[in-house]
Amino acid sequence: MKIHDKLPNAGTTIFTTMSLLATEYKAINLGQGFPDYPMNAALIELVNKAMKSGYNQYAPMSGLPVLRERIAEKIQYLYSTIIDSETEITITPGGTYAIYTALTTVLQPGDEVIVFEPAYDSYIPTIEVNGAVPVLIPLHYPDYAIDWNLVKQKITTKTKMIMLNTPHNPTGAVLSKNDMEQLRAIVKDTNIFILSDEVYEHLIFDGKKHESILRYPDLYERSFVCFSFGKVYDCTGWKMGYCVAPPELMKAFRKIHQFNAFSCNTPVQHALAEFIRQKENYLQLGNLVQQKRDLFKTLMQPTKFKPLPSYGSYFQLYSFEDISEETEMDFAIRLIKWYGVATIPTSAFYKDGKENKVLRFCFSKTADTLKLAAERLMKV
Ligand code: GLN
Repeated sequence: MKIHDKLPNAGTTIFTTMSLLATEYKAINLGQGFPDYPMNAALIELVNKAMKSGYNQYAPMSGLPVLRERIAEKIQYLYSTIIDSETEITITPGGTYAIYTALTTVLQPGDEVIVFEPAYDSYIPTIEVNGAVPVLIPLHYPDYAIDWNLVKQKITTKTKMIMLNTPHNPTGAVLSKNDMEQLRAIVKDTNIFILSDEVYEHLIFDGKKHESILRYPDLYERSFVCFSFGKVYDCTGWKMGYCVAPPELMKAFRKIHQFNAFSCNTPVQHALAEFIRQKENYLQLGNLVQQKRDLFKTLMQPTKFKPLPSYGSYFQLYSFEDISEETEMDFAIRLIKWYGVATIPTSAFYKDGKENKVLRFCFSKTADTLKLAAERLMKV
């Protein structure tokens, strides 16, 4: 049997590859982005309670109404925007699924999608699976800022969508109000859609404000905004997220979603609906994770790695240009095999594998894990 491969250039994702190597060599895994500390026990209890109460059959296709209502309340509280929970929110099995579904909803073969690189690894394959064409714009190294003049130059009659991600994976860069103003001017009077990946909305540091698309009605009217519960509640393995979009866009999104996952885990939705009301859980998250960033930075000071700024997400890039001339991939593999620390080569987030000699470190780990990793990295 022969398959006509829709992704001929794709291998196994870098996260799987590096996590497998980390396990094989018993390395500390600062590669794949997930916390190594336990999630909130009260939330686990709520899932347990929901299961025991008999909430074990299909949830509605768009998500449990009470959870969608609570999300709409949260959005109004955080971003002063009124969202209709009935028509504008759909619960999804994870943020990546929400992004995949939004792109599949909108893209036709030959459409162009503007993607800033480095880009989260699912974006380009998802565009290509849909027969569309990624138009790649490099973020400016080393601050990873968007060159909006370049964006203007890259827009054609075929531009269907612009993809944004703030706080940004893998760089930790954060979009500013000025970025949003530039974007508003560019898309005004066009038919360009926006996909905004905001899964790290609460993981933002140094008093910076998250510039959600949901704050800007003229941007929101053309947007799919994607979120993740896994990143907020330290449960990436639950694969739960949601998408917010205006009614007409969400109607089309649900047409695709209903024939794919159809609906999401019912007891988890019941639990989240209750838990999400405790604002402290997400309001204090930025500070908690910032402490981890700062601890790791202090621990890394005696090493030869040079930090690049991280203003959000749970990642920090470190340059190894003073250590080695190897490719990022070769060096990352050697770090696992010789020193027992797994990272992610940033070149994996570029279609052409661009090299800046920087590795991504995930710092959402216990102090002990970070200390042990830094001790090992001091020997490099
Ligand atoms: N979002 C996580 C990261 O960037 C991992 C996602 C995945 O493993 N597919 O590390």
